[in-house]
Amino acid sequence: HAMTIGVERDISAMKEREAELARARQAAEDAASAKTRFLATMSHEIRTPMNAVIGMAELLREGPLALDQLHAVDTIVDSGRALLAIINDILDLARLQSGTPVIRKEPFSIFACVNGVIDLMEPLARAKGIDLAADLPVDTPPLIGDEGRLRQILVNLVGNAIKFTPSGSVRVALGLRRTGDIAQVEIGVIDTGIGIAEDRLEHVFDSFTQADGEITRRFGGTGLGLTISRLLAREMGGDIAARSSPGAGSDFRLTLSLAVAQNREARPIAAAT
Ligand code: ADP
Repeated sequence: HAMTIGVERDISAMKEREAELARARQAAEDAASAKTRFLATMSHEIRTPMNAVIGMAELLREGPLALDQLHAVDTIVDSGRALLAIINDILDLARLQSGTPVIRKEPFSIFACVNGVIDLMEPLARAKGIDLAADLPVDTPPLIGDEGRLRQILVNLVGNAIKFTPSGSVRVALGLRRTGDIAQVEIGVIDTGIGIAEDRLEHVFDSFTQADGEITRRFGGTGLGLTISRLLAREMGGDIAARSSPGAGSDFRLTLSLAVAQNREARPIAAAT
């Protein structure tokens, strides 16, 4: 009889522990979703007045202004835009983390997409005296995917490469291997910049994390770009990997596996170009 009581006690203790674990899991899930909701709401609430501040400051800039006033108004516009970019990143991250679908599936030209990013970033590279080169095959088949989100990832990778490269070059290489209706895409962004220490390399993908606090203050940025980019890449069935060697440069590789558009679906691209 004593043994039966002992076993029953063990079972009830086990059940209690299980219930406790389930409660803790539920609490963690609730906290995560509350955080996501909070960030999304805050971002919306901040965006509206911030847009008004920027809009009004832009209006003021038109008027006759003394030089120091013009400088002040320019600072308002620039700071407002920087704040808005941060807010947009936070909102984007909150959406991605809550599992809200953000990826569109439409036919697009990957050549035009990568080429467009090069054109966009070229002045930034030139201003720093950095050689921005692209190695792209011209005969890419039309693919199905989210061109805007792909552009966002590439602008982040190329922007970082330029930002963390004091001199030398940034090279963007596009490779594409087709097997039937699927194209394995690999885009490398390779720089000759300051590089990242080995023990910091995986952490650059964490939110609000930068490789080096001191560098960060010097370079600015939120530390959200790579977090968002990797989440987006994974939403697209791909990933981003990084290799780096301090003092020599970094190599960020985006891999995606995208469906090749059939002729019927490809027509909008032909019409657009
Ligand atoms: P942010 O650029 O806004 O700080 P990211 O998430 O894009 O945020 O990057 C996180 C950190 O990773 C950067 O602050 C930087 O320390 C490091 N990093 C990213 N790309 C590079 C690169 N190409 N070369 C050196 N460091 C990099």
